[in-house]
Amino acid sequence: MPRSPQTKGRCAYCQGEFAKAGMGKHLAMCAARREAIAQADARRGAAQTLHHLRVVDLTAGGQFWLHLEARGAATLADLDAYLRAIWLECCGHMSQFSVGGWRGEEIDVTRRIGAVLPPGLELTHIYDFGTSTELLVKAIDTRLGKPTTAHPLALMARNAMPPTACIECQGEPATFLCMECISEEQVWGTLCAKHAKTHRHRDHGDPVPLANSPRMGQCGYEGPADPPY
Ligand SMILES: [Zn+2]
Ligand SMILES: [Zn+2]
Ligand SMILES: [Zn+2]
Ligand SMILES: [Zn+2]
Repeated sequence: MPRSPQTKGRCAYCQGEFAKAGMGKHLAMCAARREAIAQADARRGAAQTLHHLRVVDLTAGGQFWLHLEARGAATLADLDAYLRAIWLECCGHMSQFSVGGWRGEEIDVTRRIGAVLPPGLELTHIYDFGTSTELLVKAIDTRLGKPTTAHPLALMARNAMPPTACIECQGEPATFLCMECISEEQVWGTLCAKHAKTHRHRDHGDPVPLANSPRMGQCGYEGPADPPY
């Protein structure tokens, strides 16, 4: 995927739009998030350590990113399942977490996030050892309180779809991708709806809808890049 200027994204609490570099700071002071936390803290149950994680792609120029809040008791398997659902899954490939990248030490998926991701630590996540998609999971911060959802992880923010132009008309925003352009001509074949219908390549099937995922264009990935919860 070609690199584009820094992507913007949306805060899941206030729906505000912020640049990639400013989202962490925003989440720390978002009034709507504070309200959600206050409501959660007013419920029964014990406070626990919650981890603010930022996930950024390493293979698509860092245009794709997520801010997640994970329970310390959640496991790396929970995080792997979340990343597969929102971004990665095409045909059930192997994946792994490691410290120090490809050749680093593998961290077992049964480990708890509270034990392996203290603030400041980074883990590499690799999905598919053939056509791999690599992600960097960075632990930003922790807070002591009650989770705002019933799930092991909560989506706090994600990037908006990076805007791309159609390669045929250069004007209309692209909403489809031609896999044959990528595999046969090494061209990132983004197409508008009109040119997706008339594009000359048909040997690999119809162009696929663009999804908000760093796995777009790799293996058999076709989205939809929706969060599992
Ligand atoms: Zn906000
Ligand atoms: Zn695949
Ligand atoms: Zn077009
Ligand atoms: Zn094509």
